[in-house]
Amino acid sequence: MEQDQLFERLWNGDAAMEDWTATVSGGSAKPISDDAIAIHTGYLFGNATAIRTKDGLVLVDTGSRETASQTLATLRRWDDQPVHTVIYTHGHIDHTWGARLLDEEADAKGIARPRIIAHRNVLQRFQRYDATHGLNSLVMGRQFNQPGYTFPDHHRRPDQIYDDTLSLTIGDLRIELTHGRGETDDATFVWLPEKRILVSGDFVIWVFPNAGNPRKVQRFAPDWAAALRRMQALGPAVLVPGHGPVVFGAERTGQILNDGAEVLESLVTQTIDLMNNGHSLDEILHNVSAPQSLIAKPYLLPKYDDPEFVVRNVWHLYAGWFDGDPAHLKPAPAAALAAEIAGLAGGAEKLARRALDLALTGQTRLAAHLIELASAASPASAEIQMARATVYARCVEAETSLIGKAIFAVYQRDATARSGP
Ligand SMILES: [Zn+2]
Repeated sequence: MEQDQLFERLWNGDAAMEDWTATVSGGSAKPISDDAIAIHTGYLFGNATAIRTKDGLVLVDTGSRETASQTLATLRRWDDQPVHTVIYTHGHIDHTWGARLLDEEADAKGIARPRIIAHRNVLQRFQRYDATHGLNSLVMGRQFNQPGYTFPDHHRRPDQIYDDTLSLTIGDLRIELTHGRGETDDATFVWLPEKRILVSGDFVIWVFPNAGNPRKVQRFAPDWAAALRRMQALGPAVLVPGHGPVVFGAERTGQILNDGAEVLESLVTQTIDLMNNGHSLDEILHNVSAPQSLIAKPYLLPKYDDPEFVVRNVWHLYAGWFDGDPAHLKPAPAAALAAEIAGLAGGAEKLARRALDLALTGQTRLAAHLIELASAASPASAEIQMARATVYARCVEAETSLIGKAIFAVYQRDATARSGP
């Protein structure tokens, strides 16, 4: 089968996830047992899993705003029974948004809406989403480089919540829910013991774990690794990840779970060791690295998040905001510092020229410092903004992660806009 061949190429690193997205776009059902499917609509959109029971369908996750109608249509091509229960693996919108379509469908048929079950913290998340709607629109627009992006509202709350574990029997299907923290504090992985099927949610996403995201609330790398170890101990025969294709066979599910845990454990241990020895955040950032053999694996490439961002997030999990640099405890306004340094250097233009030289020879980190000083010292200079746009174009090129590229692109765009007439 074409999809199976493509899976082999993905697993071996010979194909790109974009190729897989092309095969599933529009909505695709992947059988995972006689009476269960995984529903895919593309890598960026969360997977859903559907299981038949004699009491109705159980659905794990519901799809994204962009593709939830495809998720539902794919489900209905497979089975038209009512949806009895929905489980959210976490409260991110690419997993929960489709619930409103299920409610609308039930209302139109005049039948009961599905019961939705999730971890307790999903409720707090949705409260936070309501309180910070403008911020979330801005942060998501910048993370995905989509100016004008609007975050969804009216998040469908769960009807039933749980804390640590929950065992359900629906029809004759046994379902075990376990809470863990990882990308979020409200995550659940779902285990179907008779079928040996694991639905991991975003604990497994076919790239390096998104445990460091610069603009999002705290993430939990150590807990993420622990959750992966618990899943590994189950010995799943089938693993439906939060994003990307289903993994079949105990050997491969064990490998992907083990390697994800190992890369996080390494970063966490290195970071905590240095923290315990009194090192500053700066020293830690430039001395901790992810094992190359792991981040070279096709399912752990740092294409979305960046291991360096995870180090920061681990620092933030165990320590306060102070980074160990005394100048950062009560800093001067950035513009005042910039004016001082520009004066010493012989003008903001000199800083900008040096920044360009550095950027063009690949020293993009230093270049970003100098160009921000130049820009803050002389904010109205179109010439400096042109240099700034060039510096950030080089920064975008230098990044491997989608998030890193997107954030630099925001400032490249800002500089370009300010360099015009
Ligand atoms: Zn997701």
